[in-house]
Amino acid sequence: MKNLKFLILLLTFYSLQSGAQNLRVKIFSESQFNSLSTEAIHGNYQIHSPSGYIAEYNEGQSLHLQLNTSKKLHLTKNGEFLGLFDTLFILQSNHQDYLKIKPEGKVTIKPRQYEGDFEVTANQRGIQLLNLVFTESYLEGVLRSEAGTRCAKEYYKVQAIISRTFAKNNVDKHEKDGFFLCDAVHCQAYYGRYNGESKAINEGVKDTYGLVLVDSAGKSFPTFFSANCGGQSAETDQIWNVSLPNYVSRPDTFCIHTRQANWEQYIAKKEFLEYLSKNFFFDLNDEFLVYKALNFEQKQRKTFFIDPSLGIPLRDIRAAFNLRSTFFSCEPVGEKILLKGKGFGHGIGLCQEGAMEMVGQGKTYNEILKFYFKGSKLSTSAFPINHW
Ligand SMILES: [Zn+2]
Ligand SMILES: [Zn+2]
Repeated sequence: MKNLKFLILLLTFYSLQSGAQNLRVKIFSESQFNSLSTEAIHGNYQIHSPSGYIAEYNEGQSLHLQLNTSKKLHLTKNGEFLGLFDTLFILQSNHQDYLKIKPEGKVTIKPRQYEGDFEVTANQRGIQLLNLVFTESYLEGVLRSEAGTRCAKEYYKVQAIISRTFAKNNVDKHEKDGFFLCDAVHCQAYYGRYNGESKAINEGVKDTYGLVLVDSAGKSFPTFFSANCGGQSAETDQIWNVSLPNYVSRPDTFCIHTRQANWEQYIAKKEFLEYLSKNFFFDLNDEFLVYKALNFEQKQRKTFFIDPSLGIPLRDIRAAFNLRSTFFSCEPVGEKILLKGKGFGHGIGLCQEGAMEMVGQGKTYNEILKFYFKGSKLSTSAFPINHW
């Protein structure tokens, strides 16, 4: 049995290399840590190194891993020393098993629960933890992390389809680092397993099992999403340096009265103008130009500040001042500038708050996907494996 499980793991590795069923997700990817503890919450686990079986690890028992000075993993189980290793595999006995992991870094890192198997290695930054997890189980975790636990089932169906499509389209995003996706917003937020907080999450994934979005030629459709588009979606070249023909800006009346529809932020005039002058040769002696900057207006989404000829991308201003969106207008108020903005996030693709509003108005997931991803259609992917 021990060897069988390990054989399955090896086969899984081969199948991953040849086109993939299980996902390899780097977890706690934004944290740095040299030690961690883990506790089996449900089910039994086995610990293996590349040369074979090491030990069992059962419900309620805990493991501790610490990087020593020669970058080896120092492994103990319930306080008992089990050896020094370069790589360890922690393997579940069946798909319902899950465990808790608590990394121990300089700053406190909250523990999280995970299903699936684990690969633990040392790298330059400390311990690297990979979660080998079924797509549909990963998706439940993504839905919980990206949308919270309080949405309606119909909304989770929408999010499940676009997150499944995203995972399918991006399995090579971290290929050079030896895994598929990270667990941060860079890929999709995945902060552990769905803990049964909302049946709607589970049903949303189940009811759309295997469904992904494709374009009219049957090719994968890029599925971006953000919290609120501010009433008009952005085109990809306004935010990134790529132009994707699938995305044409369109109005969205569903999100304009929702929670994150509007924002305001004050910036000192001096700071704002100095930023422009320092980074974009903006002439502070040109009174007309300064007036234009202080009274910049965006009725429709623009790509550049004031005028394209000045070459000041709005996305740069957003990043520099940590703004909620690039969709803002300016107004001078004393020594400050008041930025009045719309939306939250890049505004490309699905608008989460708009989609939630559409669900509230009785629209189906199909209608919502058609609205936000024009020209897309649903297709069944061979990609996922269920874990139920
Ligand atoms: Zn990533
Ligand atoms: Zn919107």
